[in-house]
Amino acid sequence: MSEYQVLARKYRPQRFADVVGQEAIVSTLINAIRMHRTAHAYLFCGCRGTGKTTLARLFSKALNCSSLSNEGEPCNTCSSCKEIAAGHAMDVLEIDGASHRGIEDIRQINETIGFMPTHGKYKIYLIDEVHMLTKEAFNALLKTLEEPPAHAKFFFATTEPHKIPATILSRCQRFNLGRIQYEKMCKKLAEIATDLELQVDNEALLTLAELSEGSLRDAQSLFDQVIAYQKTPITQEVVIDVLGLPSRETLFSLDEAGGKKDLTAAFLIAEEVFSAGKNLGFFLEELTQHFRTLFLLKNGAPVQGRNQKQYAHSAQIYRNDQLLQILELVTEATQTLKFATSEKTALEMLLLRILRTHTRVSLDQLVERLISLEARVAADTPPPPPEPKKAPPKPKPVTIPKVHVEKSPPPAPKTKPVTVQEQNHYDTLMRFAAKELNGALKTI
Ligand SMILES: [Zn+2]
Repeated sequence: MSEYQVLARKYRPQRFADVVGQEAIVSTLINAIRMHRTAHAYLFCGCRGTGKTTLARLFSKALNCSSLSNEGEPCNTCSSCKEIAAGHAMDVLEIDGASHRGIEDIRQINETIGFMPTHGKYKIYLIDEVHMLTKEAFNALLKTLEEPPAHAKFFFATTEPHKIPATILSRCQRFNLGRIQYEKMCKKLAEIATDLELQVDNEALLTLAELSEGSLRDAQSLFDQVIAYQKTPITQEVVIDVLGLPSRETLFSLDEAGGKKDLTAAFLIAEEVFSAGKNLGFFLEELTQHFRTLFLLKNGAPVQGRNQKQYAHSAQIYRNDQLLQILELVTEATQTLKFATSEKTALEMLLLRILRTHTRVSLDQLVERLISLEARVAADTPPPPPEPKKAPPKPKPVTIPKVHVEKSPPPAPKTKPVTVQEQNHYDTLMRFAAKELNGALKTI
Protein backbone atom coordinates (compact mmCIF):
# COMPACT_ATOMS: atom_id res chain seq x y z
CA MET A 1 0.00 0.00 0.00
CA SER A 2 1.40 3.39 -1.00
CA GLU A 3 2.09 5.92 1.72
CA TYR A 4 -0.61 8.55 2.21
CA GLN A 5 0.43 12.02 1.13
CA VAL A 6 -1.28 15.05 2.58
CA LEU A 7 -3.15 17.14 0.03
CA ALA A 8 -0.80 20.13 0.35
CA ARG A 9 2.12 17.91 -0.75
CA LYS A 10 0.24 15.78 -3.24
CA TYR A 11 -1.14 18.81 -5.07
CA ARG A 12 1.88 21.08 -4.76
CA PRO A 13 2.15 22.95 -8.10
CA GLN A 14 4.74 21.44 -10.45
CA ARG A 15 4.23 24.10 -13.14
CA PHE A 16 3.80 27.88 -12.93
CA ALA A 17 0.33 27.45 -14.46
CA ASP A 18 -0.78 25.45 -11.40
CA VAL A 19 0.05 28.21 -8.90
CA VAL A 20 -3.12 29.58 -7.29
CA GLY A 21 -3.31 33.39 -7.14
CA GLN A 22 -0.03 35.42 -7.43
CA GLU A 23 -0.46 35.83 -11.21
CA ALA A 24 1.62 39.02 -11.42
CA ILE A 25 4.57 37.41 -9.60
CA VAL A 26 4.40 34.28 -11.75
CA SER A 27 4.48 36.24 -14.99
CA THR A 28 7.37 38.41 -13.73
CA LEU A 29 9.40 35.28 -12.92
CA ILE A 30 8.62 33.63 -16.26
CA ASN A 31 9.57 36.79 -18.15
CA ALA A 32 12.83 37.07 -16.21
CA ILE A 33 13.77 33.52 -17.27
CA ARG A 34 12.74 33.98 -20.89
CA MET A 35 14.59 37.26 -21.22
CA HIS A 36 17.64 36.01 -19.27
CA ARG A 37 17.32 38.85 -16.81
CA THR A 38 17.36 37.12 -13.49
CA ALA A 39 18.60 38.83 -10.35
CA HIS A 40 20.99 37.06 -7.98
CA ALA A 41 18.75 37.32 -4.91
CA TYR A 42 14.98 37.10 -4.52
CA LEU A 43 12.85 37.59 -1.44
CA PHE A 44 9.39 36.04 -1.23
CA CYS A 45 7.30 37.58 1.55
CA GLY A 46 3.78 36.69 2.62
CA CYS A 47 1.54 34.92 5.11
CA ARG A 48 1.76 31.18 5.72
CA GLY A 49 0.48 28.93 2.96
CA THR A 50 0.44 31.51 0.18
CA GLY A 51 3.08 29.77 -1.94
CA LYS A 52 6.44 31.33 -1.03
CA THR A 53 8.49 28.11 -0.98
CA THR A 54 6.48 26.64 -3.84
CA LEU A 55 7.31 29.61 -6.07
CA ALA A 56 10.98 29.54 -5.04
CA ARG A 57 11.21 25.81 -5.87
CA LEU A 58 9.41 26.25 -9.18
CA PHE A 59 11.75 29.10 -10.07
CA SER A 60 14.77 26.94 -9.15
CA LYS A 61 13.41 24.17 -11.31
CA ALA A 62 12.83 26.48 -14.27
CA LEU A 63 16.31 28.04 -13.96
CA ASN A 64 18.04 24.66 -14.01
CA CYS A 65 15.72 22.80 -16.40
CA SER A 66 17.49 21.45 -19.46
CA SER A 67 14.42 21.56 -21.71
CA LEU A 68 12.36 24.53 -20.67
CA SER A 69 9.10 24.95 -22.61
CA ASN A 70 8.40 28.00 -24.79
CA GLU A 71 6.03 29.26 -22.07
CA GLY A 72 8.87 29.19 -19.55
CA GLU A 73 7.56 26.10 -17.75
CA PRO A 74 9.96 23.46 -16.39
CA CYS A 75 9.71 20.11 -18.19
CA ASN A 76 9.42 18.00 -15.01
CA THR A 77 11.10 15.10 -16.83
CA CYS A 78 14.80 16.05 -16.99
CA SER A 79 17.12 14.85 -14.23
CA SER A 80 17.39 18.28 -12.62
CA CYS A 81 13.58 18.75 -12.48
CA LYS A 82 13.15 15.25 -11.04
CA GLU A 83 15.82 15.78 -8.38
CA ILE A 84 14.37 19.11 -7.28
CA ALA A 85 10.87 17.64 -7.11
CA ALA A 86 12.17 14.75 -4.99
CA GLY A 87 14.02 17.20 -2.73
CA HIS A 88 17.54 15.79 -3.18
CA ALA A 89 19.01 18.06 -5.84
CA MET A 90 22.71 18.75 -5.39
CA ASP A 91 22.39 22.23 -6.89
CA VAL A 92 19.40 23.41 -4.89
CA LEU A 93 20.13 23.61 -1.18
CA GLU A 94 17.17 24.23 1.05
CA ILE A 95 18.09 25.68 4.42
CA ASP A 96 15.69 26.18 7.29
CA GLY A 97 16.50 29.60 8.70
CA ALA A 98 14.82 28.79 12.00
CA SER A 99 17.13 25.89 12.88
CA HIS A 100 20.24 27.01 10.95
CA ARG A 101 20.40 30.59 12.06
CA GLY A 102 23.99 30.98 13.24
CA ILE A 103 27.10 32.40 11.67
CA GLU A 104 28.57 28.89 11.22
CA ASP A 105 25.69 27.88 8.97
CA ILE A 106 26.22 30.91 6.74
CA ARG A 107 30.01 30.30 6.73
CA GLN A 108 29.33 26.86 5.26
CA ILE A 109 27.42 28.50 2.43
CA ASN A 110 30.25 30.98 1.85
CA GLU A 111 32.78 28.13 1.70
CA THR A 112 30.85 26.05 -0.86
CA ILE A 113 29.43 28.81 -3.02
CA GLY A 114 32.56 28.91 -5.21
CA PHE A 115 32.03 25.33 -6.46
CA MET A 116 30.30 25.05 -9.80
CA PRO A 117 26.83 23.40 -9.98
CA THR A 118 26.85 19.68 -10.73
CA HIS A 119 23.98 19.39 -13.25
CA GLY A 120 22.22 22.63 -13.91
CA LYS A 121 23.30 26.15 -14.70
CA TYR A 122 22.89 27.54 -11.19
CA LYS A 123 23.67 26.70 -7.62
CA ILE A 124 20.65 27.87 -5.67
CA TYR A 125 20.40 28.51 -1.93
CA LEU A 126 16.83 28.61 -0.69
CA ILE A 127 16.66 29.93 2.88
CA ASP A 128 13.23 29.56 4.45
CA GLU A 129 12.17 31.77 7.40
CA VAL A 130 15.24 33.90 6.69
CA HIS A 131 14.19 36.52 9.29
CA MET A 132 15.28 34.04 11.99
CA LEU A 133 18.99 34.42 11.13
CA THR A 134 21.14 36.11 13.78
CA LYS A 135 22.66 39.53 13.26
CA GLU A 136 26.10 37.97 12.78
CA ALA A 137 24.72 35.48 10.28
CA PHE A 138 23.12 38.31 8.28
CA ASN A 139 26.44 40.17 8.28
CA ALA A 140 28.23 37.09 7.00
CA LEU A 141 25.55 36.64 4.34
CA LEU A 142 25.80 40.27 3.28
CA LYS A 143 29.41 39.83 2.22
CA THR A 144 28.41 37.05 -0.21
CA LEU A 145 25.29 38.87 -1.39
CA GLU A 146 27.36 41.87 -2.42
CA GLU A 147 29.40 39.94 -4.94
CA PRO A 148 28.06 36.44 -5.52
CA PRO A 149 29.57 34.25 -8.26
CA ALA A 150 27.59 34.31 -11.53
CA HIS A 151 26.39 30.72 -11.01
CA ALA A 152 24.86 31.39 -7.56
CA LYS A 153 21.33 32.47 -6.74
CA PHE A 154 19.73 33.19 -3.39
CA PHE A 155 16.03 32.72 -2.72
CA PHE A 156 14.72 33.86 0.64
CA ALA A 157 11.26 33.19 2.03
CA THR A 158 9.81 34.91 5.06
CA THR A 159 6.60 35.71 6.87
CA GLU A 160 8.21 38.68 8.64
CA PRO A 161 10.17 40.84 6.18
CA HIS A 162 10.38 43.74 8.66
CA LYS A 163 12.87 41.69 10.70
CA ILE A 164 15.34 41.51 7.82
CA PRO A 165 18.12 44.17 7.81
CA ALA A 166 17.73 46.92 5.22
CA THR A 167 21.18 46.10 3.81
CA ILE A 168 19.92 42.62 2.86
CA LEU A 169 16.54 43.86 1.61
CA SER A 170 18.16 46.36 -0.74
CA ARG A 171 20.10 43.56 -2.44
CA CYS A 172 17.03 41.44 -3.20
CA GLN A 173 14.25 41.59 -5.70
CA ARG A 174 11.24 41.49 -3.45
CA PHE A 175 7.85 39.86 -4.09
CA ASN A 176 4.91 40.29 -1.72
CA LEU A 177 2.54 37.36 -1.97
CA GLY A 178 -1.07 38.26 -1.20
CA ARG A 179 -3.62 36.12 0.62
CA ILE A 180 -5.44 33.79 -1.74
CA GLN A 181 -9.00 34.81 -2.59
CA TYR A 182 -11.91 32.58 -1.54
CA GLU A 183 -13.10 31.95 -5.11
CA LYS A 184 -9.66 30.83 -6.29
CA MET A 185 -9.24 28.64 -3.25
CA CYS A 186 -12.67 27.05 -3.74
CA LYS A 187 -11.81 26.38 -7.40
CA LYS A 188 -8.57 24.63 -6.38
CA LEU A 189 -10.32 22.56 -3.68
CA ALA A 190 -13.05 21.61 -6.20
CA GLU A 191 -10.35 20.41 -8.63
CA ILE A 192 -8.82 18.29 -5.86
CA ALA A 193 -12.25 16.86 -5.02
CA THR A 194 -12.85 15.96 -8.67
CA ASP A 195 -9.44 14.29 -8.87
CA LEU A 196 -10.20 12.27 -5.73
CA GLU A 197 -13.70 11.47 -7.03
CA LEU A 198 -15.33 13.07 -4.01
CA GLN A 199 -18.70 14.73 -3.98
CA VAL A 200 -18.41 18.08 -2.19
CA ASP A 201 -20.93 20.91 -2.19
CA ASN A 202 -19.92 24.53 -2.75
CA GLU A 203 -21.00 25.69 0.72
CA ALA A 204 -18.62 23.15 2.29
CA LEU A 205 -15.73 24.43 0.15
CA LEU A 206 -16.56 28.05 0.97
CA THR A 207 -16.56 27.25 4.69
CA LEU A 208 -13.09 25.67 4.38
CA ALA A 209 -11.84 28.68 2.40
CA GLU A 210 -13.22 31.14 4.96
CA LEU A 211 -11.63 29.30 7.86
CA SER A 212 -8.20 29.22 6.25
CA GLU A 213 -7.83 33.03 6.09
CA GLY A 214 -6.21 33.14 2.67
CA SER A 215 -3.78 30.26 3.27
CA LEU A 216 -4.21 27.50 0.70
CA ARG A 217 -2.13 25.10 2.80
CA ASP A 218 -4.46 25.61 5.77
CA ALA A 219 -7.49 25.02 3.54
CA GLN A 220 -5.95 21.80 2.22
CA SER A 221 -5.11 20.60 5.76
CA LEU A 222 -8.70 21.21 6.89
CA PHE A 223 -9.92 19.42 3.77
CA ASP A 224 -7.64 16.48 4.68
CA GLN A 225 -9.31 16.33 8.09
CA VAL A 226 -12.81 16.38 6.57
CA ILE A 227 -11.93 13.69 3.98
CA ALA A 228 -10.57 11.45 6.75
CA TYR A 229 -14.05 11.45 8.32
CA GLN A 230 -15.12 9.45 5.24
CA LYS A 231 -18.65 10.72 5.01
CA THR A 232 -19.92 11.56 1.51
CA PRO A 233 -21.26 13.68 0.03
CA ILE A 234 -19.27 16.30 1.92
CA THR A 235 -21.79 18.98 2.83
CA GLN A 236 -21.44 22.09 4.96
CA GLU A 237 -22.98 20.15 7.87
CA VAL A 238 -20.23 17.51 7.61
CA VAL A 239 -17.55 20.24 7.68
CA ILE A 240 -19.24 21.90 10.68
CA ASP A 241 -19.45 18.56 12.46
CA VAL A 242 -15.87 17.40 11.80
CA LEU A 243 -14.17 20.70 12.53
CA GLY A 244 -16.29 21.49 15.58
CA LEU A 245 -17.75 24.69 14.17
CA PRO A 246 -20.87 26.36 15.53
CA SER A 247 -23.91 25.72 13.35
CA ARG A 248 -25.58 28.68 11.66
CA GLU A 249 -28.70 27.92 13.76
CA THR A 250 -26.75 28.69 16.95
CA LEU A 251 -25.80 32.09 15.54
CA PHE A 252 -29.34 32.84 14.35
CA SER A 253 -30.65 31.90 17.79
CA LEU A 254 -28.30 34.53 19.26
CA ASP A 255 -29.91 37.14 16.97
CA GLU A 256 -33.40 36.03 18.01
CA ALA A 257 -32.52 36.18 21.71
CA GLY A 258 -31.19 39.71 21.20
CA GLY A 259 -34.42 40.77 19.53
CA LYS A 260 -36.38 39.42 22.52
CA LYS A 261 -33.86 40.90 24.98
CA ASP A 262 -33.38 37.42 26.44
CA LEU A 263 -30.04 37.54 28.26
CA THR A 264 -30.19 33.88 29.39
CA ALA A 265 -29.39 32.84 25.81
CA ALA A 266 -25.76 33.87 26.44
CA PHE A 267 -25.37 31.09 29.02
CA LEU A 268 -27.26 28.51 26.93
CA ILE A 269 -25.16 29.16 23.82
CA ALA A 270 -21.88 29.13 25.79
CA GLU A 271 -22.94 25.80 27.34
CA GLU A 272 -23.77 24.40 23.88
CA VAL A 273 -20.37 25.45 22.50
CA PHE A 274 -18.46 23.93 25.42
CA SER A 275 -20.46 20.74 25.96
CA ALA A 276 -20.17 19.88 22.25
CA GLY A 277 -16.40 20.43 22.53
CA LYS A 278 -16.45 22.98 19.73
CA ASN A 279 -13.29 24.86 18.88
CA LEU A 280 -13.45 28.30 20.50
CA GLY A 281 -11.19 29.92 17.90
CA PHE A 282 -13.43 28.69 15.08
CA PHE A 283 -16.51 29.83 17.04
CA LEU A 284 -15.16 33.39 17.28
CA GLU A 285 -14.20 33.29 13.62
CA GLU A 286 -17.74 32.20 12.69
CA LEU A 287 -19.18 34.87 14.98
CA THR A 288 -17.14 37.53 13.18
CA GLN A 289 -18.20 36.21 9.77
CA HIS A 290 -21.84 36.15 10.88
CA PHE A 291 -21.94 39.77 12.01
CA ARG A 292 -19.83 40.87 9.06
CA THR A 293 -22.40 39.30 6.71
CA LEU A 294 -25.25 41.03 8.60
CA PHE A 295 -23.46 44.38 8.35
CA LEU A 296 -22.82 43.97 4.62
CA LEU A 297 -26.42 42.89 4.05
CA LYS A 298 -27.74 45.88 5.97
CA ASN A 299 -25.63 48.12 3.77
CA GLY A 300 -26.85 46.70 0.49
CA ALA A 301 -24.32 43.92 -0.26
CA PRO A 302 -25.93 40.64 -1.35
CA VAL A 303 -25.49 37.41 0.64
CA GLN A 304 -24.36 34.35 -1.27
CA GLY A 305 -25.26 30.76 -0.54
CA ARG A 306 -27.93 29.38 1.70
CA ASN A 307 -29.71 30.91 4.71
CA GLN A 308 -30.48 34.07 2.72
CA LYS A 309 -33.95 34.45 4.26
CA GLN A 310 -32.65 33.95 7.78
CA TYR A 311 -29.87 36.49 7.23
CA ALA A 312 -32.38 39.03 5.88
CA HIS A 313 -34.54 38.45 8.97
CA SER A 314 -31.61 38.79 11.39
CA ALA A 315 -30.39 41.97 9.70
CA GLN A 316 -33.68 43.62 10.67
CA ILE A 317 -32.93 43.00 14.35
CA TYR A 318 -29.79 45.17 14.42
CA ARG A 319 -28.87 48.79 13.84
CA ASN A 320 -25.78 49.67 11.82
CA ASP A 321 -23.88 51.21 14.72
CA GLN A 322 -24.81 48.21 16.86
CA LEU A 323 -23.31 45.75 14.36
CA LEU A 324 -20.10 47.76 14.27
CA GLN A 325 -19.98 47.73 18.06
CA ILE A 326 -20.49 43.94 18.11
CA LEU A 327 -17.74 43.42 15.55
CA GLU A 328 -15.44 45.45 17.79
CA LEU A 329 -16.44 43.35 20.80
CA VAL A 330 -15.73 40.07 18.98
CA THR A 331 -12.38 41.31 17.63
CA GLU A 332 -11.37 42.40 21.11
CA ALA A 333 -12.44 39.04 22.54
CA THR A 334 -10.39 37.15 19.94
CA GLN A 335 -7.32 38.83 21.42
CA THR A 336 -8.21 38.54 25.10
CA LEU A 337 -9.93 35.13 25.28
CA LYS A 338 -6.66 33.20 25.01
CA PHE A 339 -5.48 34.79 28.26
CA ALA A 340 -8.75 34.25 30.16
CA THR A 341 -8.66 32.06 33.29
CA SER A 342 -11.99 30.50 32.37
CA GLU A 343 -12.72 30.44 28.66
CA LYS A 344 -16.34 29.56 29.30
CA THR A 345 -16.97 32.57 31.56
CA ALA A 346 -15.17 34.83 29.11
CA LEU A 347 -17.38 33.53 26.29
CA GLU A 348 -20.51 34.04 28.41
CA MET A 349 -19.44 37.62 29.08
CA LEU A 350 -18.84 38.24 25.38
CA LEU A 351 -22.28 36.88 24.44
CA LEU A 352 -23.89 38.92 27.24
CA ARG A 353 -22.22 42.07 25.98
CA ILE A 354 -23.47 41.29 22.47
CA LEU A 355 -27.03 40.82 23.77
CA ARG A 356 -26.81 43.98 25.87
CA THR A 357 -26.16 46.09 22.77
CA HIS A 358 -29.91 45.76 22.10
CA THR A 359 -30.81 47.62 25.29
CA ARG A 360 -28.01 50.14 25.21
CA VAL A 361 -28.76 53.65 23.99
CA SER A 362 -26.61 54.35 20.98
CA LEU A 363 -24.32 57.36 20.93
CA ASP A 364 -26.28 58.82 18.00
CA GLN A 365 -29.55 58.53 19.89
CA LEU A 366 -27.93 60.07 22.95
CA VAL A 367 -26.62 63.03 20.99
CA GLU A 368 -30.04 63.51 19.36
CA ARG A 369 -31.71 63.58 22.75
CA LEU A 370 -29.11 66.00 24.07
CA ILE A 371 -29.65 68.37 21.17
CA SER A 372 -33.43 68.34 21.61
CA LEU A 373 -33.10 68.93 25.36
CA GLU A 374 -30.64 71.73 24.78
CA ALA A 375 -33.07 73.34 22.34
CA ARG A 376 -35.82 73.17 24.94
CA VAL A 377 -33.61 74.68 27.65
CA ALA A 378 -32.58 77.47 25.28
CA ALA A 379 -36.20 78.19 24.32
CA ASP A 380 -37.09 78.64 27.98
CA THR A 381 -34.32 81.24 28.59
CA PRO A 382 -35.69 84.81 28.10
CA PRO A 383 -34.17 86.49 25.03
CA PRO A 384 -31.80 89.46 25.63
CA PRO A 385 -33.56 92.89 25.66
CA PRO A 386 -33.63 94.51 22.19
CA GLU A 387 -31.34 97.46 21.59
CA PRO A 388 -33.16 100.85 21.45
CA LYS A 389 -33.65 101.81 17.85
CA LYS A 390 -34.17 105.19 16.27
CA ALA A 391 -37.69 105.85 15.23
CA PRO A 392 -38.02 105.15 11.53
CA PRO A 393 -38.94 108.12 9.32
CA LYS A 394 -42.63 108.40 8.74
CA PRO A 395 -43.58 107.14 5.31
CA LYS A 396 -45.29 109.50 2.99
CA PRO A 397 -48.97 108.79 2.74
CA VAL A 398 -49.57 106.89 -0.47
CA THR A 399 -52.95 105.93 -1.74
CA ILE A 400 -52.93 102.25 -2.38
CA PRO A 401 -55.74 100.56 -4.23
CA LYS A 402 -57.56 98.15 -2.00
CA VAL A 403 -56.17 94.64 -2.46
CA HIS A 404 -56.43 91.35 -0.62
CA VAL A 405 -54.90 91.74 2.81
CA GLU A 406 -53.14 88.73 4.29
CA LYS A 407 -53.92 87.74 7.81
CA SER A 408 -51.08 88.02 10.23
CA PRO A 409 -49.62 84.59 11.28
CA PRO A 410 -50.95 83.15 14.53
CA PRO A 411 -48.72 83.76 17.55
CA ALA A 412 -46.18 80.98 18.24
CA PRO A 413 -47.32 78.57 20.96
CA LYS A 414 -45.65 79.23 24.24
CA THR A 415 -42.84 76.72 24.95
CA LYS A 416 -43.41 74.47 27.88
CA PRO A 417 -41.00 75.41 30.65
CA VAL A 418 -38.38 72.82 31.60
CA THR A 419 -39.26 71.14 34.88
CA VAL A 420 -36.78 70.26 37.64
CA GLN A 421 -37.10 66.56 36.77
CA GLU A 422 -36.25 67.26 33.14
CA GLN A 423 -33.27 69.38 34.14
CA ASN A 424 -32.03 66.52 36.34
CA HIS A 425 -32.59 64.07 33.50
CA TYR A 426 -30.60 66.36 31.22
CA ASP A 427 -27.74 66.48 33.72
CA THR A 428 -27.74 62.69 34.01
CA LEU A 429 -27.67 62.38 30.23
CA MET A 430 -24.76 64.80 30.06
CA ARG A 431 -22.81 62.72 32.56
CA PHE A 432 -23.69 59.52 30.69
CA ALA A 433 -22.66 61.07 27.38
CA ALA A 434 -19.39 62.27 28.88
CA LYS A 435 -18.67 58.73 30.07
CA GLU A 436 -19.65 57.28 26.69
CA LEU A 437 -17.37 59.71 24.92
CA ASN A 438 -14.64 58.80 27.36
CA GLY A 439 -14.33 62.28 28.76
CA ALA A 440 -14.20 63.92 25.33
CA LEU A 441 -17.02 66.30 26.32
CA LYS A 442 -14.74 67.92 28.86
CA THR A 443 -12.56 69.25 26.09
CA ILE A 444 -15.42 70.69 24.05
ZN1 LIG B 1 13.35 19.94 -16.68
